[in-house]
Amino acid sequence: MELIVARGREDLVKARRGGTVALVPTMGALHEGHRSLIRQARVRADQVVVSIFVNPLQFGPNEDFSRYPRTFESDLHACRAEDVDVVFHPAAEDMYAPDRQVGVSAGQMGRIVEGAFRPGHFDGVLTVVLKLFNLVQPDLAVFGQKDAQQLALIRRMVADLDLPIEILGVPTVREPDGLALSSRNRYLSGDDRRVALALSRALRAGAAQLTPAEIRRTARAVLDEAGPELDVDYLALVDPATFTEVGDGFEGMAVLAVAASVGSTRLIDNVTLTLNPS
Ligand code: AMP
Repeated sequence: MELIVARGREDLVKARRGGTVALVPTMGALHEGHRSLIRQARVRADQVVVSIFVNPLQFGPNEDFSRYPRTFESDLHACRAEDVDVVFHPAAEDMYAPDRQVGVSAGQMGRIVEGAFRPGHFDGVLTVVLKLFNLVQPDLAVFGQKDAQQLALIRRMVADLDLPIEILGVPTVREPDGLALSSRNRYLSGDDRRVALALSRALRAGAAQLTPAEIRRTARAVLDEAGPELDVDYLALVDPATFTEVGDGFEGMAVLAVAASVGSTRLIDNVTLTLNPS
């Protein structure tokens, strides 16, 4: 089937074929991580919609909205290769009226960990994701565990607002050396990239430990070894559903998450681990 490019609600309605619909929301500059999400969508639904929209609402005033990579033609190529049915590519002025008032609040959970460093970010994410859900009306939506707090908040939004949509989380795709794929990796010089490897190295070293204190200490030591070129925002060991820090007696799945800048490029990564397995 020919790939359809939809710009608004009318195009989306016209493109509907019946059967189940899976949505993969992205900001474009598609890489193998996105493609892994698309493949999961493809095997689970009759029709796959990929949205490509660099959402101004989720960028802070000093963040990289204007320099965020925009590679629409090669994104279309990737979508064709993955047998995507519809690419939804709205214009920012069609998504947000100048006089818009109402949005989604991510609540307290949107103000901790990553949210503490990016005020308003998760409100912007949830607002655009809810709009995409309303426009596309998917049965299933697919997100990466790479953005673990985002995934947790989307699950929270679906539960708290009774959205009739199944959420699927997909494991992080990495380079052979461990670096998590990200649209922002293209900004890294060779030297930056070597520094950036400390993120995944720290997470692996932490995940090999047994107690929360050892996990935190070991991962922190690896980050410290990277030196001043790595500017760490946080290292957090949290409950995957609430993103609150886990204590010493915690049992079950936890997420070890890190955010750091290398030069002007900010990177995030995380691993899931199991504490005190019985
Ligand atoms: P983005 O375009 O960065 O907003 O990401 C769109 C979706 O792709 C989100 O659900 C991300 O979590 C997911 N994603 C980004 N990088 C990766 C990766 N390396 N592996 C798996 N999923 C990813």
